[in-house]
Amino acid sequence: MIRKFIFVTGGVVSSLGKGITTASIGMLLKSRGLKVNVMKIDPYLNIDPGTMSPYQHGEVYVTEDGAETDLDLGYYERFLDINMSKMNNFTAGQIYESVLRKERNGEYLGKTIQVIPHVTNEIKSRIKKVGETAEITIVELGGTVGDIEGLPFLEAIRQMKIDIGRENVLYVHLTLIPYIRAAEELKTKPTQQSVGKLREIGIEPDIIIARSEKPLNDDLKGKISLFCNVTKDAVMEEVDVGAGNIYAIPLILKNQGLDEIILKYLHVTSRKHELKKWEDMVESKKKYKTTVEIAITGKYTGLKDAYKSICAALIHSEYPNKTNVKIKYVDVESKSLNDDLKTADGIILPGGFGDRGIEGKIKVSQYAREKKVPFLGICLGMQCVVMDFARNACGLKNANSSEFDKNTPYPVIDYLPGQCDDTQKGGTMRLGGYPCILSKKSIAYTEYKKEKISERHRHRYEFNNKYKEILTSKGLVIAGQNGDLVEIVEVKNHPWFVATQFHPEFKSRPLNAHPLFAGLVREALIFSKKKGKK
Ligand code: GLN
Repeated sequence: MIRKFIFVTGGVVSSLGKGITTASIGMLLKSRGLKVNVMKIDPYLNIDPGTMSPYQHGEVYVTEDGAETDLDLGYYERFLDINMSKMNNFTAGQIYESVLRKERNGEYLGKTIQVIPHVTNEIKSRIKKVGETAEITIVELGGTVGDIEGLPFLEAIRQMKIDIGRENVLYVHLTLIPYIRAAEELKTKPTQQSVGKLREIGIEPDIIIARSEKPLNDDLKGKISLFCNVTKDAVMEEVDVGAGNIYAIPLILKNQGLDEIILKYLHVTSRKHELKKWEDMVESKKKYKTTVEIAITGKYTGLKDAYKSICAALIHSEYPNKTNVKIKYVDVESKSLNDDLKTADGIILPGGFGDRGIEGKIKVSQYAREKKVPFLGICLGMQCVVMDFARNACGLKNANSSEFDKNTPYPVIDYLPGQCDDTQKGGTMRLGGYPCILSKKSIAYTEYKKEKISERHRHRYEFNNKYKEILTSKGLVIAGQNGDLVEIVEVKNHPWFVATQFHPEFKSRPLNAHPLFAGLVREALIFSKKKGKK
């Protein structure tokens, strides 16, 4: 099998959408029948993003095999429709940890341990291992060229070209072409300087992808080509499309011949694209006439990256329902919470950690339950539903999760010893895919249309079975279980109210929306029509 590598670096500033661009390249190559894998390298020192605040890092993406990873892996899974694993994301922390462990074990036979070659070898061996799984492996390097912590990684990817041959390695550089409003001009200088920095390290980019507010004209492409030493047809533009339209990006890049040029440079032949369904999905979005409003109720409402996969799953649900979805972020700590929820046609209560905002979250559950608004609770969202139901439907005053109140008289959500480890912070939760059996009388069963499902988890606390009898006697429905563990609850006498201990958002795909999200949007559409009639 051929083994080729594409390295994607970023220049000028961060937040250029390197993850989406990397995923788009992967999607285009996969659509030509090639076996593609994608990985992300994060140059920070944390072992994984699991312990980082969403303010710092955005969402933590959980893989099927239980790795807590960078949110870019979510893009890779969604664009390529393949499952990522622990191997697909590593950090500088993991590299140094493993080099130091080897040193303590005497594996370096008395040598002085240095960044080159010991750290760079460790980096390359991880990249090459993933490379064994595919014909083309795309490697996205986090951070921006010029960051001190990125240097060992750039050095390692420079060496890859020598190690495995020039014709097997390609460098793509994503940069910003800023628009200076006062001069009404797009500027290429930062890009020239960023490429200059790469050249100092010994990397010559083959392809430049330029992010900009406005399209680049031919002259500008010529200038980038001249100063950055890439052919003109290898200068691509990626103009801003807006969050709801990111699935158009692979098509925009394809129309400029990006995949053709990649295959030419790497000497790979492949069949033509199969993109019909994808194109249809992107096109159909222009024709939707209705819009439903879905409220995402949380405490990170100022930082949209914290709910990336949930937003993605909502966008995927537009296609089967032929409607636009407008997302409204509602702060659970707001004084006017109930008023803020009034315009919502559907409500999502997402996962989270820590007690801040908990009382507001419990109120959101009560609001959706009593006002019969379509509702999806996720992880902590489900736990809040159980607390709300215990307090407000069963009279168990001050019922709580023992995560937030160790002395609650009714720990309806509790820590189960042996289920996970609460003595350490990183990597100690119930993580990754677990099976769940659905009750045939549940809404969940109607949506999934099957009895046995598997979904991804990231939590420590569980539904406390001691309260099952009293809660179900008052109308809580246990809709899904994994052995004794309660995975889904619903409530009686409500058109559509589902809450899951797992995170369904991680398995939603653009052409295959997750059944619970698609169901929520369908019900929201019905709800909004009814509201309209009133
Ligand atoms: N904090 C809760 C727990 O650990 C929920 C976690 C989550 O929502 N991901 O069980």
